[in-house]
Amino acid sequence: MSFSVSSSAPSSVRVRFAPSPTGFLHIGGLRTALYNYLFAKRHGGSFILRIEDTDQARFVEGAEEDIVRSLAWCGIEVDESPLHGGEAGPYRQSERKKRYMEAAMQLINADVAYYAFDTAEEIETMRERLKASGNPSPSYDSITRQSMKNSLTLPSEEVQKRLEAGDPYVIRLKVPRRESVQFTDIIRGVVTFETKGLDDQVLMKSDGMPTYHLANVVDDHDMGVTHVIRGEEWLSSAPKHILLYNYFGWEPPTMAHLPLIMSPSGGKLSKRKAEQEGIPVNTRDYIDGNYEPEALVNFLAYLGWSPGDDSEIHSMDELIDLFSLEKVSKAGAVFNYKKLMWYNEHYLREQSDDTIVQRLLDLPAAKTLSGVTQEALTACMPLLKERITRIDEFFEMGAFFFEDPTSYDEKGMAKVGDSASAMIHALHQALEQHPSDELDAEAYKSWLQDTADAQGVGLGKVMLPTRLAISGAGFGPDLTPSLAFLGKKTVLRRLQTAMNHWA
Ligand code: GLU
Repeated sequence: MSFSVSSSAPSSVRVRFAPSPTGFLHIGGLRTALYNYLFAKRHGGSFILRIEDTDQARFVEGAEEDIVRSLAWCGIEVDESPLHGGEAGPYRQSERKKRYMEAAMQLINADVAYYAFDTAEEIETMRERLKASGNPSPSYDSITRQSMKNSLTLPSEEVQKRLEAGDPYVIRLKVPRRESVQFTDIIRGVVTFETKGLDDQVLMKSDGMPTYHLANVVDDHDMGVTHVIRGEEWLSSAPKHILLYNYFGWEPPTMAHLPLIMSPSGGKLSKRKAEQEGIPVNTRDYIDGNYEPEALVNFLAYLGWSPGDDSEIHSMDELIDLFSLEKVSKAGAVFNYKKLMWYNEHYLREQSDDTIVQRLLDLPAAKTLSGVTQEALTACMPLLKERITRIDEFFEMGAFFFEDPTSYDEKGMAKVGDSASAMIHALHQALEQHPSDELDAEAYKSWLQDTADAQGVGLGKVMLPTRLAISGAGFGPDLTPSLAFLGKKTVLRRLQTAMNHWA
């Protein structure tokens, strides 16, 4: 027997993003949400957020809020969710408990699921026994169930008695011994699994909570989900789900399993690997790290998908127009952080100076640095806008526009060598004697050139010490307009400080 899933797109598409609130939203999860959203909107359908919180041991306080905030930050609009409501709610699985028990009973009555009363120790003993007799991965399955304590082996009166006495039990799926389960995955084509390798999946746990498999299938059906789009790590669960759909007598949704996100050094991009390679892994790292949401969205859209041409820059609306699951690749997609920063730079520079200034005023650095005003930021914007890839770098690179440097870059100092002190002296003297108090960039350029000439050195030899003295850094925005921005008084003060320091 084989069960098939049709891949024709029904008229009203309904997809769901179904995270478990066990931690902060990982960028892999965010990409899954994004693909679901793009697909739903491409087909004029609905995007549902369902919280799969049946694993109480792994529940993390605040995780649901983090998911909601992350989606909103990216511009992924949710149609139905615990917060937004909707006709198919409730959207938290912990609030749907009754329904799962009812569904499990339907399976028991159809003789495709059964009660199992075995204790953890009894299951362990069975495993040890089979291991000893040469089975490397024993499981509770169509063979071993026959020697365990369940409603298939115990007399029905005893089962009844145990249930009435409140003995702990689980409900297991009666996975057939030798059958092929087949379905068509939009990304992977026809996928076939043999039931021989499957265990009798627990559907209801002894705490009265369903497992992921049962709850997921029941909810996808009850919520009218037409397409299940999720990560490749769930592919091996799909045959169990197809069996369940079949036993319930329900039409399974169309499936699409997305490729893994890979680390640049190979292997799956785990939390540990990401940390090692300096890749922020949770969406909140990008929010708190002042990345551009459009950049993350555009980048993630291309992490495993491409419209099939050379284009790379697309807004959310354009992505919706272009997206198709058929163009998602099967192969793992390597996370290229440099590329993400390329997108970030693009979306940052696209913004007007006024917008960036307003955003800068909201950053913490704007409050801790003295003299940060709208006018001052607007004036130094042209000096920095083309040099930064992330908005907060503005204050990293441009702090000297507002505050005197407190240290001098060692590499830069090594480069100027012993001549630094004499050079700064000459520069300071020449500027002090300069007839004008309002020098523009041109006037500063002449001052530098004249001093260089008088010292018998090239322009470069005076520029670096000057830059170090006024900014503390060995590189940065164009020097002469920066000097003009700072003004003669500040420049003189900083030259004087450097002179004292470097003597
Ligand atoms: N709760 C599962 C997760 O955490 C959902 C998997 C699915 O989409 O079926 O990813």
